[in-house]
Amino acid sequence: NLSEKLDKALHILKGHGKITEVNVADTLKEVRRALLDADVNFKIAKDFTTKVKEKAIGENVLTTLQPGQLMVKLVKDELTELMGGDVSGINLSGNPTIILMSGLQGSGKTTFSGKLANYLKTKKNKKPLLVACDIYRPAAINQLHVVGEQIGVEVYSEEGNKNAVEIAQNAIKHAKANGFNVVIVDTAGRLAIDEEMMNEIANVHKAIEPNETLFVVDSMTGQDAVNTAKAFNDRLDFDGVILTKLDGDTRGGAAISIKSVVNKPIKFIGTGEKMEAIDVFYPSRMADRILGMGDVVSLVERAQEQYDEEEARKLQKKIAKNEFGFDDFLAQIQQVKKMGNMKDLVGMIPGAGKALKDVEIEDDAFKHIEAIIYSMTPGERSKPATIDVKRKNRIAKGSGTSIQQVNQLLKQFEQMSKMMKMMQGGAGKNLMRMMGG
Ligand code: GDP
Ligand code: MG
Repeated sequence: NLSEKLDKALHILKGHGKITEVNVADTLKEVRRALLDADVNFKIAKDFTTKVKEKAIGENVLTTLQPGQLMVKLVKDELTELMGGDVSGINLSGNPTIILMSGLQGSGKTTFSGKLANYLKTKKNKKPLLVACDIYRPAAINQLHVVGEQIGVEVYSEEGNKNAVEIAQNAIKHAKANGFNVVIVDTAGRLAIDEEMMNEIANVHKAIEPNETLFVVDSMTGQDAVNTAKAFNDRLDFDGVILTKLDGDTRGGAAISIKSVVNKPIKFIGTGEKMEAIDVFYPSRMADRILGMGDVVSLVERAQEQYDEEEARKLQKKIAKNEFGFDDFLAQIQQVKKMGNMKDLVGMIPGAGKALKDVEIEDDAFKHIEAIIYSMTPGERSKPATIDVKRKNRIAKGSGTSIQQVNQLLKQFEQMSKMMKMMQGGAGKNLMRMMGG
């Protein structure tokens, strides 16, 4: 699926020391292929990768993080932007608020009408009326009645009346007379775009002047969804999109494309057949879902916030001059600790959360290390080589640890200092690597 493919694409960059134009281009070629495979429109995929490429090259010098992670963040930010950026609420003005559903047969209009009525009733304290304007199939009217009964919402229908405009107008009169403040009009769809259906919904639209015209689309229909959205938008100039059936292993390509083709926000998603399976659409969460990377983005952002460039430069100088001591090490630990407790941090690493579910992680994994360092004299901290057996014993006693633990830390410190000198990168980055892998 798309997540796996993007993951593979971004994998190319991992292990590279810095982002170069060559590996960015390679990665983005794979990203583009993954998007195309997920039914994202060709031009959109191309524009997308061009933008990410420009940003990736631009941020090269600034970054202190692993390039792979930075790329993930850039791709995610751009995906979020592509899907509308911010959350787009539903317009509840008008008394009553009139909401018109449009879309092909089977897209999920009737189900979503019920979900929305239930959402407005329970979450927004509204009194909605459902209106059955799918007049061609008696089963359709019945379906809406079943839904209405389930959620305790009244359904307006007229048996035998074959004029959708009339029914909708009568329903609004009924709503005004009976204190309903939202009217949700469910309409008939066809299996494919046809003139008759378009004329009918356009006539209803003109007659009732909805506050919100929503286009409902099955997210599993891929590229077709975009064409359908365009056809409906040309006639209705709708206000928002509802993506249904996002519960299965859907490819998500529709969500990426629709916003850019019709320039209308996605407002809600349907994630199941039950009446409760409705969610406000959050572009950033959808981007997470598409990338399948859990909370890695917030982890990267937190690391960026906490990282002090000035400190890093000073540290680099010390390493170069062989002056990196335990005081600096302590400062580094404190940097990492500012990011949050170890358990939370580990939980944010994709895959790790599950793998380490049963492993006990100390809330403060650095407690012993800090205690040992605090028990050293300033001289010992800056010149660890002077710490002999006698001193080790004293430090172990002072810190409430064992001589083995002191030895272990000294050994780790020595290895780390060597490695840092070798890499000559930002010390914080190296420490992060050692800790996070
Ligand atoms: P309409 O023809 O546009 O009114 O579509 P329906 O509301 O009748 O839905 C068609 C089918 O899709 C029904 O079997 C629904 O139960 C199902 N359906 C609708 N929304 C969702 C959803 O979000 N997830 C799943 N899994 N099924 C859905
Ligand atoms: Mg229906």
